Amino acid sequence: MTLSLTESDVLIVGGGMAGGLMAAALMHSGLSVVVLDAAPVPQMPAGAATPRVSALTEASRHMLENVGAWQQLPPARIQPYDRMHVWDGDGTGDVRFAAQDLHTDALGWIVENEALVAALYQVVTASRVQWQPNARTECIRRSEQGWRVTLADGREYCAPMLIGADGARSAVRQVAGIPGTGRDTGHVAIVGSAMTALPHGACARQRFIDSGPLALLPLFTGERGEPEARHQVSIVWSLWPAEAERLMALDDAAFDIALTQASTGCLGDMQFQGRRFVFPIQELHASSYISEGLALIGDAAHVVHPLAGQGINLGLLDAAVLAEEMLRARQRGLPHCHASALQRYERRRRGHNALMLNAMHGFKVLFEASAPPVRLVRNMGMNLVNRLLPARNLFARQAMGRGGDLPQLARSKVS
Ligand SMILES: Cc1cc2nc3c(=O)[nH]c(=O)nc-3n(C[C@H](O)[C@H](O)[C@H](O)COP(=O)(O)OP(=O)(O)OC[C@H]3O[C@@H](n4cnc5c(N)ncnc54)[C@H](O)[C@@H]3O)c2cc1C
Repeated sequence: MTLSLTESDVLIVGGGMAGGLMAAALMHSGLSVVVLDAAPVPQMPAGAATPRVSALTEASRHMLENVGAWQQLPPARIQPYDRMHVWDGDGTGDVRFAAQDLHTDALGWIVENEALVAALYQVVTASRVQWQPNARTECIRRSEQGWRVTLADGREYCAPMLIGADGARSAVRQVAGIPGTGRDTGHVAIVGSAMTALPHGACARQRFIDSGPLALLPLFTGERGEPEARHQVSIVWSLWPAEAERLMALDDAAFDIALTQASTGCLGDMQFQGRRFVFPIQELHASSYISEGLALIGDAAHVVHPLAGQGINLGLLDAAVLAEEMLRARQRGLPHCHASALQRYERRRRGHNALMLNAMHGFKVLFEASAPPVRLVRNMGMNLVNRLLPARNLFARQAMGRGGDLPQLARSKVS
């Protein structure tokens, strides 16, 4: 029995960061938009940092600012970083990046995923967009009117355009019959935060160890004070599962010693805070991002190794480009879900994302190599990049999201 049927122009399945930005990018377009998300109403976190954070690029910040979501984030929960330090397990290869070399204040910003979703929710629900929390899809099918989605409680939604923003295990991708090429990274990540004896100095650090990279991202502490004087970092420690299992079995004191050793003591003694979480690390690329009246964005389209912190930065760009192409089609008098708009979206995003997926995979393989000649060349390369300012700046610009075919929303402040 159909309880109710809601018709709209666009149906977004998944109200994570990618789906949230997608809705925000369309909120003033005149199109009616519905977001369906399985999770409860997003809440702005308060108190201690929540475990999942993202390093956002300048392009991501522009997109979030242009839709008004950045302004909803409590400033105390945003941690800018103006330096990056990447070094090899042996300590013989070393690259340092600084914002001042690029004549900018920050290389990026660390923000909690929950805070970002809550900020997007606040912006979007102040518009005409309908955001349905606790709305897990049960059945998705193609009908005469376009796409029809049924929830577990019987509510039904239909629209000519369906956007799959439902993450790595996307139901939309499966329903569309779009296969994903997966690559087994063989890694899991221990994730959480730690207090450090030395201040983090607003520097994002990554050490490449044979068993996988360890990222130490500077975090806000909720206290007032200079961003660089803070003493808390977010940890993403990628490891082989057996090694992760061994570390997870350690008591707190032994784990802290292992973490301090793995970080080569760069921040002094470290003390892990709260629960340790383990996440599998996948790599996946959908063979296509589109089907009739359907597009995939964010992790539904591609899952990238977190070692360069690019996953959601790519996902936000997908959303902005898809919105741009849908609106361009309308300006040309075509329906927003016209095949040409979807094809242009796929052309603009799939190649760029593939490049990033392959680059991250290449880095991982390069840094896991134990053969002495490979290590020698790799470390010479790192040291050479470190000595050449233009090469260093080229890498930093890419990491800041300044490269490629940027949508208008990502360029700078749009009035
Ligand atoms: C350890 C780790 C560290 C990372 N660090 C970074 C980083 O520093 N920088 C970076 O850019 N990226 C990072 N990433 C990647 C980043 O977290 C992901 O790219 C990002 O979360 C993907 O966002 P999304 O909105 O596409 O999908 P998700 O965050 O997975 O959101 C999907 C949404 O869809 C909803 N949903 C799912 N199925 C259904 C359904 N059937 N019906 C209704 N709703 C549904 C879910 O409730 C959820 O809200 C990291 C990843 C990991 C694992």
